[in-house]
Amino acid sequence: MDLNLENITPEEYEEMKQNVFLATLENVKAWARSNSLWPLTFGLACCAIEMMGSGASHYDLDRFGTFFRTSPRQSDVMIVSGTVTKKMAPVLKRLYDQMPEPKWVIAMGSCATAGGPYINSYAVVKGVDQIVPVDVYIPGCPPNPAALIYGINKLQEKIRYEARTGKRVTNR
Ligand code: SF4
Repeated sequence: MDLNLENITPEEYEEMKQNVFLATLENVKAWARSNSLWPLTFGLACCAIEMMGSGASHYDLDRFGTFFRTSPRQSDVMIVSGTVTKKMAPVLKRLYDQMPEPKWVIAMGSCATAGGPYINSYAVVKGVDQIVPVDVYIPGCPPNPAALIYGINKLQEKIRYEARTGKRVTNR
C-alpha cells in the first residue's frame, strides 16, 4: 500500500481503517500494564477469604490478566484485605517499599479502609492509607469477590487515565 495518504484509493482507505491501529506508546504501555496486574497477596483477616475466592474458578480473576504473586519483587499491586494491626504496619510498609514502580494499592474492606469494626481498638491502624498511598477503596465487611473484581476494573481504568494525562492520583 502507498504510504502517501493523498494517493490512496477509497478501497485502500477502507482497508486501512479496518487494519491500522494508531496509539501513543504511553497508551499501549498502559493498556498492557492494566491488563497484566500482579497483586501481592496481603491477606490479613476475614476479607482475605473473599480475595482467595476471587482467584478461584467461579470468579476467575485470571481472565482479567490478574495473577497473585507471593513476592513483592514480582508485584505491582498490593491488595490489603483485612485488619491492619499496628504490629503488622511496619511489615506492610517494608513489603510495599520492596515492590518496584509503578505500583498501586487496593484497600479491600472496611478494616483496611478505616479500621472497620475495630475502629476503637488501640491495636488497629485506622486505614492502610496512613501507611501507604491507596488508589482504590472497596467498601464492605467483607466485600465479595465481585466487588474486588469491580475494584480491580476501576484500578485498570485509573492506570489508563494516568497514562493519558500523565497525572498520578492517590489518596493519602
Ligand atoms: S472488613 Fe469485616 S470481613 Fe473484612 S477483615 Fe474486617 S472484620 Fe473481617
